[in-house]
Amino acid sequence: MRRAIFPGSFDPIHLGHIDIGRRASELFDELIVAVYDKPLKKLLFAPDVRMALTREAFADVPNIVVKGYSGLTVDFCSEVDAKFIVRGLRVFSDFEYEFRMALANQHLSPGVDTVSLITRQEHTFLSSTTVREIASLQGNVSAMVPEHVALALEEKFRPKDNT
Ligand code: ADP
Repeated sequence: MRRAIFPGSFDPIHLGHIDIGRRASELFDELIVAVYDKPLKKLLFAPDVRMALTREAFADVPNIVVKGYSGLTVDFCSEVDAKFIVRGLRVFSDFEYEFRMALANQHLSPGVDTVSLITRQEHTFLSSTTVREIASLQGNVSAMVPEHVALALEEKFRPKDNT
């Protein structure tokens, strides 16, 4: 079985991630969307919420499974017996980071290959950071995330009623 993982923080999942996940699911027998537990960056949503939002986004794709992980990505690959790591590439600035990470993973685990998919033009400037920033200022993110994620963001940033 050709199994790949698509790792990320998914804080929260957006249409750019969803497009990469769906396209990758056509390349492999099984795609594990791997939600990283404790990235170095500051998170908005707890791991279980990020996983639930991600799971709902791919609920209609039979060969996508969503799992959480912590530790090294290559260790998770061997745990689930995956030989491929899928990553998405947006702007040029992604390339250097992704290139370095792919080489590091190759060094740590030569049997695992990184497969990078180029984003669609309309998702080039879409990132979880942008989505969080707009949502935190009560902006409209409905063109960037699925409805269930927009609702979760709305809930998160709803102004508190202090009366
Ligand atoms: P990480 O914390 O590992 O960067 P992210 O959740 O930000 O995790 O992203 C996971 C993967 O999705 C990365 O490979 C990232 O490059 C890719 N990605 C993020 N945004 C987009 C987008 N708009 N189009 C395509 N790929 C994207």
